[in-house]
Amino acid sequence: MNNKIPKLRLPPLPTIKYLLKMYKLRAQKALSQNFLLNEQLADKMIKRAGNLTDCHVLEVGPGPGGLTRSILKQHPKKLTVVEKDNRFEPTLVMLADAFTTVNGEMEIIFDDIMKVNMSNIFLASEAKPWLDNTPKIRIIGNLPFSVSTPLIIKWLHAISEKRGPWEFGRTRMTLTFQKEIGERLIAEPMDPQRCRLSVMAQAWTHPVIHFIIPGTAFIPKPKVDVALVSFVPLATPRTQHEFKIFEKVTRHIFSFRQKYSIRGVETLFPLEDRVELGQMMYKLSDLKPTTRPMQLSVEDIDKLVSAYKYLIEKHPHIETYEYRTSRRILSLSRTKHVELVECTEL
Ligand code: SAM
Repeated sequence: MNNKIPKLRLPPLPTIKYLLKMYKLRAQKALSQNFLLNEQLADKMIKRAGNLTDCHVLEVGPGPGGLTRSILKQHPKKLTVVEKDNRFEPTLVMLADAFTTVNGEMEIIFDDIMKVNMSNIFLASEAKPWLDNTPKIRIIGNLPFSVSTPLIIKWLHAISEKRGPWEFGRTRMTLTFQKEIGERLIAEPMDPQRCRLSVMAQAWTHPVIHFIIPGTAFIPKPKVDVALVSFVPLATPRTQHEFKIFEKVTRHIFSFRQKYSIRGVETLFPLEDRVELGQMMYKLSDLKPTTRPMQLSVEDIDKLVSAYKYLIEKHPHIETYEYRTSRRILSLSRTKHVELVECTEL
């Protein structure tokens, strides 16, 4: 027996290219708009988001609706779209109307995804216990690169606390990133791309790159290629520590990427305690101070965070110590420039 659900046939609609022309919708640089006009490619991307039938899907940044059409063809129970640019109202309303004719429901929210309260979008009846399979909720987005990285950090934080869409279970996300960022997200220990973003993503989720989309697939063409990445929250995260402290230790470790990892760890402590407490962190964690940041697994970093928490208990004054602040003060106190340590990937 063939269990395959036939694709939904939407009423005939003008092409996205035609709609962009008709409504004079020129891509806005400020919102990093790059539109996908290739229907087959949009269908291929949506297939990688998992089975959408009967799901409540949230699409972020639908723009004129190219990817949205491919989502609708997969029979979601409901589609909610969040778009910052209300110039797309006519094209999105046209899609919502078309979906209503086949008994579908599409909700359009014009807002900034960074500010939307996502708990209000889904219903309690859509929830599944955390340890069950993923709930029938999906998050999908071909986002601007300027938004996708801060957004994934914000969402990893929410996953760690089971907030927002993760109140409803292990909601799966399928999002686009600049290819290089996608590669960092999935980089395992020993991979030269390994960085803070890899550790944070892998501590709470299983990130997978499905495929790389050439920049030429978008109009206007971005300068870089694009990675389609899915994240499924882990039933049991690889750390039980709070997001903020885990992020802080990871950030310090990767602040000197090419050096021994103890170099970054030492910056967690005030100058006078640095060498002693740095060594102590490694002793407590049973790790070698000469390990390079890229060699550390999530579990190694988890042990370093446990050691850091233990040292905070013994020496409460170190908790509020901020390396960057003190370096900045240092740089102001001298006439010559002191390089500030910045992490570029988050
Ligand atoms: N999904 C469409 C496609 O694939 O053709 C458009 C993709 S375009 C790269 C990104 C879309 O996200 C644009 O429509 C843009 O207006 C929207 N956008 C940008 N920043 C946003 C934000 N903070 N919140 C919601 N939407 C945003």
